[in-house]
Amino acid sequence: MSQPTTSEEGTTTTVITATTHLTLPAHPVPLSYDQLNPKSKPVEFFGPIGTAGISVIAPLFTYIFFYTCNDAVGCTPTTVSGWKYAWETVGYFPSEAGYLWEWKSFAVYLAWYAYCIACWKFLPGDKVQGNLLRDGTRKPYKMNGFNTLLLTLGLSLGVLLNPGGIQLFTWLHDHWVPLVSSSLVMATFQALWVYGYSYYNKELLSLGGNSGNFFYDFFMGRPLNPHPPFFSSFDIKTFNEVRPGMILWLILNISCACEQYVRLGTITDSMWVVILFEGWYTADCLIQEHTILNQMDITTDGFGYMLSMGDLTWVPFTYGLQARYLAFNPVTMGPIWASVVVAILLAGNYIFRAANNEKGNFRAGKNPKKLEFMTTERGTKLLTSGWWGRSRHPNYFGDWLMALGWCLPTGFKTPLTYYYIIYFVILLVHRQMRDDEACRKKYGKDWDKYCEIVPWKIIPYVY
Ligand code: NDP
Repeated sequence: MSQPTTSEEGTTTTVITATTHLTLPAHPVPLSYDQLNPKSKPVEFFGPIGTAGISVIAPLFTYIFFYTCNDAVGCTPTTVSGWKYAWETVGYFPSEAGYLWEWKSFAVYLAWYAYCIACWKFLPGDKVQGNLLRDGTRKPYKMNGFNTLLLTLGLSLGVLLNPGGIQLFTWLHDHWVPLVSSSLVMATFQALWVYGYSYYNKELLSLGGNSGNFFYDFFMGRPLNPHPPFFSSFDIKTFNEVRPGMILWLILNISCACEQYVRLGTITDSMWVVILFEGWYTADCLIQEHTILNQMDITTDGFGYMLSMGDLTWVPFTYGLQARYLAFNPVTMGPIWASVVVAILLAGNYIFRAANNEKGNFRAGKNPKKLEFMTTERGTKLLTSGWWGRSRHPNYFGDWLMALGWCLPTGFKTPLTYYYIIYFVILLVHRQMRDDEACRKKYGKDWDKYCEIVPWKIIPYVY
């Protein structure tokens, strides 16, 4: 209710009293599709030109790593003659390992993918509710990746223990490039399909992949949580994130170890370190599968070529470079060097796991170490002691140390096997910048306060 009053100077003021009634709707008005899915600015990865470039260059590198580093040409990507020789073998490689395409390998890859889906469908697993989405819903997820890994390792062991099993297992090593091509077909098909389907079924879109530019949205991922028609419980993004690619990486590593065994009659200490520690990384990731629901890839990024190619091609076939190199270029580390490498790997693993556990527990409402924290205006709390008090991404530091430990067993004859630590620095620094930006948007001034308390970005006292 409003009442006019007159002041001593004779001016009239309107006073609004608390008796004024507002007619609010009984339920909030649901947002329209356009309000829920605002247009994004194509600014990440240098915009559409950058994303188009990476879409071509990244798969190309997967092939370059093979053709410049194999038993036919050696591992000489640092010399012009090495490149020339490698180029000449493309299309004329002396064995099936270097054939660009092979229908048999494509069939095997499809069978592998179908097997992973069958494991997801039929193996038991915990049902977990995903994070609250901005349309007010949550997605249910079935977490049985670790069971898939156990079954796969059990079946692999069954093959290996049979007479001729070790030779049979080298099949994957011997069909490397056709398998790369097959995974790329799968990755491209999925990225194209989810992009097109997202226009048709009007699903929730990612905030970063809805610019309207094909090259940008195709790479960044337009839909946030795509699923196949009629199978809404099958989440394509989380499925691809840790199953068909991550587990294949481990199986390819085992295949490379078999190849070394067939050639040498033994498996070197360097190969053991690579397959055991990389294998442990995969197992650890699948044991903690539910934690991927809090990762940027799942909460924020859409599903596009960046993730489909990254998950299905880049991870298994480029992370597998160390084991493939050791298959034809065996390295014996000896006890002292092996102990140094294992110490680096254990230190990296400890930091990685301790940091991720501290945050995981804290976000689940537990604080067993009684760590200090600050409360933000948004309501969420941020740890300010323990690993998260030492740097803003201590888990990245541990992850990078492990990456270093995977490369060192390959010795120092070629720089190529160290590509992973260089690529990983770029990935983690870029990821840290993206996450910092997202947290600044989320937490505003509280994030600046946190940055003052914890000034180091990744490596305590260094960066
Ligand atoms: P993080 O696990 O580092 O999570 C970042 C989020 O944690 C922030 O957005 C924020 O989200 C929350 N957070 C930040 N600071 C604090 C704090 N002080 N206290 C509590 N919560 C905080 O990021 P990623 O998802 O990028 O990485 C997950 C793991 O995956 C890492 O271990 C990484 O190394 C690994 N990884 C591996 C890759 C590979 O190829 N091998 C590639 C990419 C990642 P909020 O506050 O909303 O909870």
